[in-house]
Amino acid sequence: MRKKSNGSPKVTIVMYHYVRDMARTRYPDLKALDSGAFLGQIRYFLKHYSVIRMEELLEAVTKKKKLPENALLLTFDDGYKDHVEFVFPVLNKFGIQGSFFVPVEAVSKHKVLDVNKIHFILASVSDKEKILADMRALLKRYKAKYKLKSEDEYLRLLVAEECRYDTKEVVFIKRMLQRELPEKFRTLVTDVLFRKYVTEDEASFARELYLNSDDIKRMRDGGMYIGSHGYNHYWLNTLTPKRQQEEIKKSLVFLQGLRCSQKPFAFCYPYGAYNDSLLKVLEKAGCAVAVTTRVSVADIATDNPLLLPRLDTNDFPKTETSSNKMTRKTVMV
Ligand SMILES: [Zn+2]
Repeated sequence: MRKKSNGSPKVTIVMYHYVRDMARTRYPDLKALDSGAFLGQIRYFLKHYSVIRMEELLEAVTKKKKLPENALLLTFDDGYKDHVEFVFPVLNKFGIQGSFFVPVEAVSKHKVLDVNKIHFILASVSDKEKILADMRALLKRYKAKYKLKSEDEYLRLLVAEECRYDTKEVVFIKRMLQRELPEKFRTLVTDVLFRKYVTEDEASFARELYLNSDDIKRMRDGGMYIGSHGYNHYWLNTLTPKRQQEEIKKSLVFLQGLRCSQKPFAFCYPYGAYNDSLLKVLEKAGCAVAVTTRVSVADIATDNPLLLPRLDTNDFPKTETSSNKMTRKTVMV
């Protein structure tokens, strides 16, 4: 039951990535939310919040319409097949909406995003020393060609960073492959490791991992909101304004072809990365709401609507009967 609105400008935006049946997945080491826990969390939200639709948030921003008290918006990043298999049926059952942000190249060209390759490499190799040995060999082999730093200089980072949720080896591997190594070289390393430990058939893997156009249409017809997450899933803050514009335009052409994301539309920043020129590009393209990875409850009276913060699924209980509203704080990358 929707509570009477008092016009609160606050909205809790929850971020999800992988949601799958962990008892059956071929990758039990993948950092994913179990589908049973997801159902428990949705029941919890239904008890404590008013789950709103993206259209309500867009209207609250553009037409100053009021949001219900304890408004909560569900967002799902990266266009995973998980979302049509495990998320959509649950949301459908309860008559609530999720907003799904799809990286267009991954879902339309059957290419696996580097960030996903890294997740599956890590989930496929339990002894992380093996990956480190391969990385060392590649650093040596390509040092001159890619003008790399010395091996020792990189390995120094192995002890430099600790994290609550990952071992130092995992933190190091992610850091090297996500940002430390020069872009062309880190793509090469990621590809070599993905082919060696996960699969040589990237296209089939992509078909299994991501939604396709029919899935997206089915979810759209079922009342879900499908939003833009860029075309190539780049760190958009690193591109020129012209390339930022192309990224946004190409993603909208695809989505509008499926009758999704009409203007004003909602956007989700890949890796939560943005800069001033990207905000201008988005505004000009007709974007009214965009979500980041900053951790907080959003307040549309004080936050820039193009920079709304979110909370992670791990910040909330996974069962209906839990009484505490928030458990811990983390952002999954
Ligand atoms: Zn993403």
